[in-house]
Amino acid sequence: MGLDTSMTDSAVTIVPESEIAGLITPEIAFDAVEATFAAMSRRSAYNFPVIREAIGHADALYGFKSGFDRESLALGLKSGGYWPGNDAKGLTNHQSTVILFDADTGKVKALVGGNLLTALRTAAASAVSIKYLARKDAKVLGMIGAGHQSAFQMRAAVAQRDFEKVVGWNYHPEMLSRLEATAAELGLPFEAVTLAELGAQSDVIISITSSFAPSLLDDHVKPGTHIACMGTDTKGKQEVEASLLTRAIVFTDEIAQSITIGEAQHAIAEGSLREDQIIEIGAVINGDHPGRSSDDQITLFDGTGVGLQDLAVASAAVDLAKAKGVASKVDF
Ligand code: NAD
Repeated sequence: MGLDTSMTDSAVTIVPESEIAGLITPEIAFDAVEATFAAMSRRSAYNFPVIREAIGHADALYGFKSGFDRESLALGLKSGGYWPGNDAKGLTNHQSTVILFDADTGKVKALVGGNLLTALRTAAASAVSIKYLARKDAKVLGMIGAGHQSAFQMRAAVAQRDFEKVVGWNYHPEMLSRLEATAAELGLPFEAVTLAELGAQSDVIISITSSFAPSLLDDHVKPGTHIACMGTDTKGKQEVEASLLTRAIVFTDEIAQSITIGEAQHAIAEGSLREDQIIEIGAVINGDHPGRSSDDQITLFDGTGVGLQDLAVASAAVDLAKAKGVASKVDF
């Protein structure tokens, strides 16, 4: 489908998955996500309840994340899910598409490929947490997890501090080559380590696994560390020992998700953490909370992933696609 400028502004803009890599850089995703978290904390942007269902076909999990930002007027949803059989068909298991609507009329405005956008907006979230919460003198980045998301996470994180080294651990050691290759691409030395060594060396730790039991333990982590827990986005998942959340000061993208589907769900359930102790990262961005208050404090960001992040990066993709003349339009 080529560009058709003869159509009216009411036409639907289509930005296919294949165009996203040429449009959205990690920097653009960072700015979009930072602004979104700030708007959420000002209560001018909010996420609607998440729907996620096992549909009883193809072992698929399917759902919607949606919301509205009254400042940017981003309105819409990301729809998709997880199809475990897709690999065998040469397709990505995670599938998502963003649909944007005109906030003034309710007309559908754009259809945007959401797979790469999801990785970029998730990496941007932990990078935002590093910007606001990690010690300024952080030198060693620890990576727990070596799956699809991990490379995006590492690339976004290293832009925030003068890291000199990456250390990594993964439940499946054969996957560590992804971390080593990504560190090499970024010009950083990489070392595969045990979890105890990772905790002892790292100033910033990113955890991005699909684990249902803690990998990183409280004892592993040294004072002053910033931890971004990015893998836990469903009830039952867990990446770090719950007691780490009582030792740390806990920040999140959205408190409602943090306590139900995020890493904080476990400390909340065992009664060692209260909801009112969790701070929105947007409050730090807006200057309403100081963030880290000492070099010895452990800060932990519970990044659960909200629909507004998807709408923000998809809106940026639509604007850039139009500006670069790569957007297709269809009358609808
Ligand atoms: P992936 O399937 O490519 O990789 C999974 C990773 O988890 C691998 O490193 C694997 O070794 C590790 N793992 C699997 N079982 C484990 C176990 N029992 N203990 C410890 N580690 C284990 O997945 P991905 O695309 O890299 O996503 C990783 C996680 O991030 C998933 O849980 C996904 O749902 C989540 N995610 C969160 C957000 C968000 O916004 N917070 C966004 C996208 C993905």
